[in-house]
Amino acid sequence: MTSSLPTPADLSTHIGRGLSDLRDLVALQSVSAQGRMLPETAAFVTRLLEAEGFTVRSYPGEVAPVLVAEAGEGPATLLIYNHYDVQPEDPAELWESPPFTLTERDGRLYGRGASDDKGEFAARLAAVRAVRERHGGRLPLRVRWLIEGEEEVGSPSLERFVAEHAQELRADGCWWEFGSIDPDGRPVLSLGLKGVMCVELRCRVAASDLHSSLGAVIDNPLYRLARAVASLRDDGGRVTIPGFHDDVREPSAADLAALARIPGDGQAVRETYGVTRPLATGPAYHGRLNLAPVVNVNGWGGGYGGEGSKTVLPAHGFVKLDFRLVPGQDPARVLGLLRAHLDAQGLTDVELVELEAHQKPARVEAGHPFVRACVAAAREAHGAEPVVQPSSGGSGPMYPFQALGVACVAAGIGNVGGRVHAPNENIVRDHFEKGVVFGVALLEGLSRGE
Ligand SMILES: [Zn+2]
Repeated sequence: MTSSLPTPADLSTHIGRGLSDLRDLVALQSVSAQGRMLPETAAFVTRLLEAEGFTVRSYPGEVAPVLVAEAGEGPATLLIYNHYDVQPEDPAELWESPPFTLTERDGRLYGRGASDDKGEFAARLAAVRAVRERHGGRLPLRVRWLIEGEEEVGSPSLERFVAEHAQELRADGCWWEFGSIDPDGRPVLSLGLKGVMCVELRCRVAASDLHSSLGAVIDNPLYRLARAVASLRDDGGRVTIPGFHDDVREPSAADLAALARIPGDGQAVRETYGVTRPLATGPAYHGRLNLAPVVNVNGWGGGYGGEGSKTVLPAHGFVKLDFRLVPGQDPARVLGLLRAHLDAQGLTDVELVELEAHQKPARVEAGHPFVRACVAAAREAHGAEPVVQPSSGGSGPMYPFQALGVACVAAGIGNVGGRVHAPNENIVRDHFEKGVVFGVALLEGLSRGE
């Protein structure tokens, strides 16, 4: 099997073509937050796919077309999920080369979308081309490809779209839109994403601000909010809302075994950001990052925060929170528990406002056959033992796919210095090349039923 896997040198034509596609894709300024060039980019992606024998259907989304492409035939069906939209380039002056011109420097390729997510798409398409060539112009498995243009604005159409197009999207597994390669060259595979729920707590005690002398006789909204926030977790970071942990799904033995094999304990993160108050180090680090639900205080508002003092009793205040949830937890139920917890402490006047659509958590078991196929392909393509994370610490729209019964695995070509969403976004050229080899290994392995 290993002998049949091509090297980057064998695939140089396909890699060159993939990089040329990436250059064209980066040049299309598909910024979904600003509605820029979305139909044009969808049309370009459609042409790329049609040239490889895909039938492409375009559906209207809230902001941009959703594309579903299909090609090939065989015993296995692979679903691929990517997005063609990007984050705004701002602040443009911090880019060292033009954001929409793919530029190579010191083995890295810079440009908006180079990593998130156009580089991933281009590497996968190059792999599809290579597999077609190896099989006389046909794909030996069915590939279904969902490519949306609204991911960077929270995928507003996706949950409903996936549910409504269940038949078109059924597959043995879904190759998720991102993934990374660690500084030691090990591919990092994630088997899940945490859910996320963003809320705001608001408190108002008067129609307008008052003299702070009246604090003797009138309650303070920032104190009320501080009391609410302090009741949400303990000093170790464990959420203390009654019932919050009741539904948390226990990790499987395979999940725990994968967790135990993740190298390091977050030292690089602590050094990069100059962290002074870590909540977990050592073996607890990856356990917490992968499996623990979390509440975060994102920011406070109200009263006077300027220079010097101002003796004011603010009329109102707010605090923004996000909850990262894990499989078993349901955002709607957590919201109810939070309300009941505030009420039980007499904080009935603290208003609870949902800020945006929640995302439910999703995670596939480490022992799933599709996970094993991805791990085997990554091992073969990178010549290194993959790092398998039971879950990313981050969130994304994975749950709708899981609800269809499709196992999702994130495997891709990002890197820790990839500056995704920031100026000077980049990929490592070598990672792109290995990504193409990984794609060939995965498609070939699945088509052989491995
Ligand atoms: Zn992104």
